[in-house]
Amino acid sequence: MNLLRSATVVSVASLAVLALAADPKDTPPPVVTPAATFSDGAGAPADAIVLFDGRDLSKWKSENGGEPKWTLAGGAMQVNGGGLMTREEFGDIQLHLEWASPAEVKGDGQGRGNSGVYFQGRYEIQVLDSYQNPTYPNGQASAFYGHSAPLVNASRKPGEWQTYDIVFRAPKPMADGKVQPGSFTVFHNGMLVQDHIPIPGAATTSAKFTGVAPTGPIMLQDHGNPVRYRNIWLRKLASAPAK
Ligand code: MG
Repeated sequence: MNLLRSATVVSVASLAVLALAADPKDTPPPVVTPAATFSDGAGAPADAIVLFDGRDLSKWKSENGGEPKWTLAGGAMQVNGGGLMTREEFGDIQLHLEWASPAEVKGDGQGRGNSGVYFQGRYEIQVLDSYQNPTYPNGQASAFYGHSAPLVNASRKPGEWQTYDIVFRAPKPMADGKVQPGSFTVFHNGMLVQDHIPIPGAATTSAKFTGVAPTGPIMLQDHGNPVRYRNIWLRKLASAPAK
């Protein structure tokens, strides 16, 4: 009996070691070269709210309060002087945006072309120069930061415009006080990278807000790198009440 018990303990321990070695968060997703264009320059549908069309920052404020300090040039806006947040708050949405990491490559890992899109100011889809720039997979471009690595590395080269098309379903508070998880579905340069991934409800690192709420602002992160954005619009989605 004792022998059986120790054999069981040993095999469970071995399994644990194997599981550790094969931890998917440490395995880089395969690199797949995207097509030259996908939703680049996609026009806003009739029911969309245009957050940025290249002309002004009127839909945005600084996360630190006051007017945004980001610079405008060539139909794009560039990170400067603090993150941006939308003046309006949103629940479930479909979002289109385009971004470009700096053409001049500086730094590595999380220090190269880092920014991010925070849904409800809480849940980050990472923006990072992940072209030949290894980092932990659930922190690379198009990761649900800290939670889920992308299915493929669909990154274009530094300085090139890239597209995100994202369906965000917000976590919702339930009557019993628990949280009904939300979800992320993300396309990066036309490839599915997050396939209906659950959002448990806890805010990701460096989030502006915590706690589950019905709505919140879209936030674009200032991580100290001159990342650019253009052509940002969203569609509000009808959401079912929490079960
Ligand atoms: Mg980031």
